[in-house]
Amino acid sequence: MSEANQDKGIALVSEAVCEQVVGRSEAFTAVENVFAAMAKGTAYNFPVVREAIGHADALYGFKSGFDRDGMVLGLKSGGYWPGNMDKGLTNHQSTVILFDPDTGKLKSLVGGNYLTAVRTAASSAVSIAHLARIDAKVLGMVGAGHQSTFQLRAAVEQRDFEKVVAWNFHPDMLPKLAAVAEELGLPFESVTREELGAQADVIITITSAFESLVKKDWIKPGTHIACMGTDTKGKQEVDADLLAVATVFTDEVAQSISIGEAQHAVASGLIKVEDITPVGAVINGTHPGRTSDDEITLFDGTGVGLQDLAVASVAADLAEEKGLANFINF
Ligand code: NAD
Repeated sequence: MSEANQDKGIALVSEAVCEQVVGRSEAFTAVENVFAAMAKGTAYNFPVVREAIGHADALYGFKSGFDRDGMVLGLKSGGYWPGNMDKGLTNHQSTVILFDPDTGKLKSLVGGNYLTAVRTAASSAVSIAHLARIDAKVLGMVGAGHQSTFQLRAAVEQRDFEKVVAWNFHPDMLPKLAAVAEELGLPFESVTREELGAQADVIITITSAFESLVKKDWIKPGTHIACMGTDTKGKQEVDADLLAVATVFTDEVAQSISIGEAQHAVASGLIKVEDITPVGAVINGTHPGRTSDDEITLFDGTGVGLQDLAVASVAADLAEEKGLANFINF
């Protein structure tokens, strides 16, 4: 941070301003860069804290890290308040706090709700860009909640998709996803999970399921599957033995085996930790990624703090550049 910036004080970047300044392409670039830095070892996440606070049924925690390449230090704090919907608020609440890596001084406070959705969508989009077959035509969506429309919008920018097929545990949620597909000019079909596997070239799972929704035998050769919903111990979206036949990539191996989709395959001995590759290695060119048209590639997107910090830092810079940040003395 320059002296001039320090004089201005702390930048406050609201949710509305984040939506205004950070689009999908900014998020994609920020997430791709930080995944690359993580794989090189120049950016690292610190241990996650996540606790039930014993009030309002809330889960609260911190995700924190430092990116030496991007010079971004900070944390995302927040969690899940299940009763918020009744109060007209989003259940997931988060705020990103950025610090000056040279001094530790507070630098910016950035709304984290919109950015969480856009960075999570950027994560699966980065995996599709680097791992899916170039000729992928059908996108399969498993899940139709808050994140799903962000996922859909980001994914369709990575390949020339011609159709979206979808399944959701609560079928009444599908029309919202269908409306986005329609807006994007893509035919939308609601299908069974088996049919989804038979048709889709790329699958995104984005649910809060605690047991497998996608059977190994339903997945056709050559599919890329981005498992995005599993971010907690015990959650699961696909068969553990699917990971044994797939080439497995992740944002961060430590999270993948503890709270990600790979937790089950590793715990049951179906794969080893060494079988999981950070997608950043593919971005950096130190891993070839997909090596054949028949290979099944699976991305375990667990969601790391550095993603939040990367997009929040972009939001703070752009907000300041466009005169949209509020500065306060602190
Ligand atoms: P949401 O509450 O809006 O939607 C939940 C989705 O899960 C819906 O599609 C719902 O139908 C489905 N679902 C609920 N119970 C189910 C069950 N028992 N079996 C199958 N499906 C079920 O949530 P959201 O904001 O869309 O988030 C979806 C998931 O993504 C959550 O698990 C969340 O923790 C996770 N998430 C991951 C990241 C990441 O970086 N990987 C980031 C944000 C959210």
